[in-house]
Amino acid sequence: MLREETVFGPIHSRRLGSSLGINLLPTKGKLCNFDCIYCECGWNKDGRDDKTLPSAAKVRSDLEDKLTQLLLDGTRIDSITFSGDGEPTLNPEFPRIIEDTVHLRDAFYPGAKVSVLSNATRVHIPAVFEALRKVDNPIMKIDAPTNELAAMINRPAPGYDVGKVVEALARFEGDFVLQTMFLRSESGFDSGAPEVLGPWMEIVRALRPREVMVYTIDRPTPASGLTAFSQKELQALVQPLVEQGFNLQVRGK
Ligand code: SF4
Repeated sequence: MLREETVFGPIHSRRLGSSLGINLLPTKGKLCNFDCIYCECGWNKDGRDDKTLPSAAKVRSDLEDKLTQLLLDGTRIDSITFSGDGEPTLNPEFPRIIEDTVHLRDAFYPGAKVSVLSNATRVHIPAVFEALRKVDNPIMKIDAPTNELAAMINRPAPGYDVGKVVEALARFEGDFVLQTMFLRSESGFDSGAPEVLGPWMEIVRALRPREVMVYTIDRPTPASGLTAFSQKELQALVQPLVEQGFNLQVRGK
């Protein structure tokens, strides 16, 4: 599902409440340096026609208009959330946009959180990291603890190295949210298998994120042959981390 507006919603999110979305990617296409087999925006190859990214000026003006209207209507907003048709940090004006959004949030909805959903591939870039430090909820994805598995699940652009992503995330010193998709594929992998779960837990223990969100597929996926995990299965899989004091948010099927 592609977002056709730069500022959309608010939509209800179980995790973030009433969430106003910001899409920093093309409105008629998808732009991501991953091509996940479960991406709700579809495959990259099917959404490349529109490569126009919204400028910082457009995002600021669209957001200000929307917040003005929502405030007049008395609409509640719990989160202003960067998510959309791809990876938000690929927008070259991402740092500027975050700065503007934080100012607008302070002016219109000081109680709302600013959240960013990212695949964490650009955290090593100082300006991107500094911008992510300014938001309330930097929600960073690691689905696969090895590059081999990432190649199957996330299909990243060349050069991806999960070790380097973990190194970059360590700079948050735990002050971020880790998000992980659990799924099984007919082609042979299983996020819950010991050889996947064990190394993933090692990453969690090394990074000590303030919150870990585990979830599963709940919409049609571009790849076929994928199955979801039930709530009960996910709870059982992450139980060792719960017992070690980690804050887990579990969203199974
Ligand atoms: S990182 Fe997100 S936007 Fe990019 S392909 Fe994966 S699910 Fe889609």
